[in-house]
Amino acid sequence: MKAKVVEVESEAFDLQERYDDVPHAWIQWKGTSVCMDVNCGCGCSSHICQESFVYYVKCPECSKIYFCNGHIELIEIKNISAEQNCIVEGELD
Ligand SMILES: [Zn+2]
Ligand SMILES: [Zn+2]
Repeated sequence: MKAKVVEVESEAFDLQERYDDVPHAWIQWKGTSVCMDVNCGCGCSSHICQESFVYYVKCPECSKIYFCNGHIELIEIKNISAEQNCIVEGELD
């Protein structure tokens, strides 16, 4: 597993994938309760359960700390199944 590694936080911010050329979104971790499966480079898998302000995660096994990129790719679905009820419509800025 190849990881991006930097010396300081500001470098991680500059190095994050931003998906500028494709539909994308950005998660504001501050007010966002999140469940997250974390897979560390050391091989440890852990779980963050409904925490807020998850800008960084720490591996409970090796103590490595990772910056969490909030940028995510959006994939358009042309035919959504009728029973899908986890669709949230945005508000216009
Ligand atoms: Zn959870
Ligand atoms: Zn680890």
